[in-house]
Amino acid sequence: MTNATSGLETSLPAVTTRHNDHRRYPHGVAFMDGQYLPMSEAKISVLDWGFLHSDATYDTVHVWNGRFFRLDLHLDRFFGGMERLRMKLPYDRDQIAAILANCVALSGHRASYVEMICTRGSSPTFSRDPRQSENRFIAFAVPYGSVANEEQLQRGLHVAISDTVRIPPKSVDPKIKNYHWLDLVKGLLEAYDMGAETTLVLDTNGFIAEGPGFNVFVVKRGDLLTPAFGVLPGITRRTVFDLSAELGLKVTAADVDRHALKAADEVFITSTAGGIMPVTRIDDAVIADGNVGPVTRRLMDLYWAKHDDPAWSTAVTYA
Ligand code: PLP
Repeated sequence: MTNATSGLETSLPAVTTRHNDHRRYPHGVAFMDGQYLPMSEAKISVLDWGFLHSDATYDTVHVWNGRFFRLDLHLDRFFGGMERLRMKLPYDRDQIAAILANCVALSGHRASYVEMICTRGSSPTFSRDPRQSENRFIAFAVPYGSVANEEQLQRGLHVAISDTVRIPPKSVDPKIKNYHWLDLVKGLLEAYDMGAETTLVLDTNGFIAEGPGFNVFVVKRGDLLTPAFGVLPGITRRTVFDLSAELGLKVTAADVDRHALKAADEVFITSTAGGIMPVTRIDDAVIADGNVGPVTRRLMDLYWAKHDDPAWSTAVTYA
């Protein structure tokens, strides 16, 4: 086998081109380095600190029925994360909103998962000083995806509580949406080993924190409770606070232990990827009668109804 660029003979086996196989990429459109590209062509340098050190922040917003849901809140969180990480981009908030809308419009998706990312980038001199890096912006729109599939949304998810501790807030501020997921992936793999469908990991004090891409809520005697410490302030979590205010439900953010979760009347998780999703089994315990509860159903219905409301959503202009 001959190496095309160097002409050197190697004894390496022929490698498959599996990572270049376009079928491995969902249909979608990305924006990077000033250009719109098909998803399969959106690639970054392996020297980008975003890849080498998880030195990046990002946000995910969804489009439903051709409308962004609560885009302003996602942009606030994204810009807040960049400020905390001392990153700067050559685009302002309106320009980023326009790029996201263009990615969606060019993709044609009316239900889309839209990501905006700022990586540390790399320095032209390969300096190890992060201040000398040129920060990079990437955005993309792919088909909408959910933590829970249709069947799981009907019957409720089976969640395993992991003993894994989420990275401490003193190490990585959870207000900065980040890719530090080794703890979450460890918990997820353990949950699969136990026959569960996803996981919840713990905070540094041993209370329930969050799961891979979602926050969690407990309903007890009509009141809602969600972890306060060591979690990403999710936009869907915030939306549950807002919907609860509209419905006259009381919500508290405080420590949540395993017992509160298993003894709950209802449990649900929240994410931009899936919205409000019921949980009906935790480890070996069935929650209440094992069916999706009335408070969860009411919140789910109102959540999706808000997606067509111009006070909560913004239309994408398709060509
Ligand atoms: N917690 C973590 C660690 C997440 O990554 C996410 C979303 O990706 C969430 C919670 C839920 O946040 P949101 O409701 O803003 O999607």
